[in-house]
Amino acid sequence: MRNELVAWRGTARQMWARLEQGNRRWAAGTSHRPRQDPERRKQVATSQAPYAVVLSCIDSRVPPEVVFDVGIGDLLVVRTAAHTLDSLGIAAVQYGPQDLRAPLVVVLGHQRCGAVTAAARALRGRETLPGELPHVVAALEPAYASSDGQVEPMVRAHILRTVSRLRADPLLYGAATVIGAYYSLDTGLVTRMA
Ligand SMILES: [Zn+2]
Repeated sequence: MRNELVAWRGTARQMWARLEQGNRRWAAGTSHRPRQDPERRKQVATSQAPYAVVLSCIDSRVPPEVVFDVGIGDLLVVRTAAHTLDSLGIAAVQYGPQDLRAPLVVVLGHQRCGAVTAAARALRGRETLPGELPHVVAALEPAYASSDGQVEPMVRAHILRTVSRLRADPLLYGAATVIGAYYSLDTGLVTRMA
């Protein structure tokens, strides 16, 4: 435990395997809830070395640290509605590989996404949502167009589009492996997509 801060880092493939193992524990109801104690808090109080960035939705049912069964200091988490991105969101993702040398970026979409459902409804009915919400709708419009407005295909299309966008990012290219994944609310399982 004492030297884990550095020892935890490995290749993107190894880090994904670690997340997958944690997710299998979560889905099976056998979470370890690792590295969530005062010792770990002290260990990472003055420095951090998260081994992955997770870009995910704000949905209250999909907290990345819980669904991957990891602890504090393990993940750099960026969350927006349906993991839509603007320049600030991209900057937050870039921070992981650039400044903290995290080798893996996971784009995590999920089943029955409320933001995707609301955007699909607004686009179908040509409604304008209040406040800043039209920004989310606009960000999801390409996925809507490529999936006939059906929510689950739209979620998956949006994950793949986001992966492509991040893979083409000049700061992430060569610095991190970007993969897409889908979380099932029904089973608790994360499935890798790309
Ligand atoms: Zn969502």
